[in-house]
Amino acid sequence: MSDLLAPVLTANWGQDRSWKINVYESQGGYQALRKAMAMEPDAVIATVKDANLRGRGGAGFPTGVKWGFLPKDNPNPRYLVVNADESEPGTCKDIPLMMASPHTLIEGIIIACYAFNSNHAFIYCRGEVLQPIRRLQQAVREAYSAGYAGKNVLGTGFDLDITVHAGAGAYICGEETALLSALEGTRGQPRLKPPFPAVAGLYACPTIVNNVETIASVPSIINNGPAWFNAMGTEKSKGFTLYNVSGHVKNPGCFEAPMGITMRQLIDLAGGIREGHELKFFCPGGASAPILTPADVDVTMDYEGLAAKGTMLGSKAIQIFDETTSAVRAALRYMEFFKHESCGKCSPCREGSWWTTQIMQRIERGEGEPGDVDKLIDITSNVAGRSFCLLGDSFCMMLNGYIKHFRDEFEAGCNGTPAWELFPYEKSAIFPVASSHGTSE
Ligand code: NAD
Ligand code: SF4
Repeated sequence: MSDLLAPVLTANWGQDRSWKINVYESQGGYQALRKAMAMEPDAVIATVKDANLRGRGGAGFPTGVKWGFLPKDNPNPRYLVVNADESEPGTCKDIPLMMASPHTLIEGIIIACYAFNSNHAFIYCRGEVLQPIRRLQQAVREAYSAGYAGKNVLGTGFDLDITVHAGAGAYICGEETALLSALEGTRGQPRLKPPFPAVAGLYACPTIVNNVETIASVPSIINNGPAWFNAMGTEKSKGFTLYNVSGHVKNPGCFEAPMGITMRQLIDLAGGIREGHELKFFCPGGASAPILTPADVDVTMDYEGLAAKGTMLGSKAIQIFDETTSAVRAALRYMEFFKHESCGKCSPCREGSWWTTQIMQRIERGEGEPGDVDKLIDITSNVAGRSFCLLGDSFCMMLNGYIKHFRDEFEAGCNGTPAWELFPYEKSAIFPVASSHGTSE
């Protein structure tokens, strides 16, 4: 195993029936819960705060700080909602985690709920991914049977229900307020913030929304302490994390490494660029993160390192593209995704994503008009900062990144040269990503 890897969450992924509660317990599973429940709830929150764990869904917001936002004087129930609606293009970490080690997540849920006194947790999972949903349901049943969930958890008098909810399949439902609306049974569209969910979330009650990987990281922090977590990573991005690497590499997959590993090291972990080819550009953090080029391959893959380069870590969905890739076609693929997923609530994003896609399609065909590239920049400058939620800003950041680095390819499409003439399809085929963790039983 490479010494760049830091297997904590992934430590037991390859083991036989790693998803079963007896296998998890035989490896020390649920010991962190016993330890946490012997602590005062506030001490558990302080431990997570001291560890400087930051949200792994994309925003990197400090987890312990978020937990501390719950109002102390609100008499309503409190909820934990786990955002398992993993849908950022290129992101493949939460679903493998829930398949291979659902009890790591469930143990984290119980500890979190105990810490901030919530008696009901929801796991909002993508509706399309039936197998992880079944596995989670099975694991939750096992946790109830073992006395870790339900009435009187481990004889402490603390009650907790855990509900696995299947979403209906919309990217925007990964946005926390849209997710809460969908969970309540209404249309999954973003709500105005503030109030943040911590103050008024599910059913207008105080609610913590955390990503799967964030919550699954909590048991190891309780077991090993904040100093252990702080010893990994960079000055402001601590600990380990799951990086997803896909595209034109020899061995795409999910790699767990300390925060701040460089892009070059991650490409090495993924076996390097496919044989006979070279890196053209990479997307460091999901569809919305502006791309970077080989000149930035030594960037550290943490929140600050990427922000210094004008881009972001996001959900750590790293997509690698070699010299056979058309920048216009890649940008158009993402653009079509955003247009399809725009929820339609606000005009700048709904209209802007449609018009931008139309223009880019004609550029791809080599039928772009003079001035089309400036028109794209003009549209994005009118959408960014004027949309109701981040999705509008996201496609603008994405598109401007491509134009900044590969404007000549966009201009070629406005001068009669279709993208497929410069970059034939058959040369840019991407290897399929294979990942399997057995079947539910
Ligand atoms: P955000 O920065 O608005 O919020 C981060 C979190 O902190 C939220 O839970 C928010 O409620 C909380 N928060 C922030 N300020 C607060 C305050 N003053 N009081 C109480 N709570 C507060 O970001 P976001 O919209 O939640 O997430 C955006 C990120 O999601 C993007 O960076 C993107 O990378 C990522 N994303 C991930 C996926 C995926 O599949 N994992 C998909 C789409 C987007
Ligand atoms: Fe919906 Fe897009 Fe507006 Fe967000 S920015 S509310 S996704 S239309």
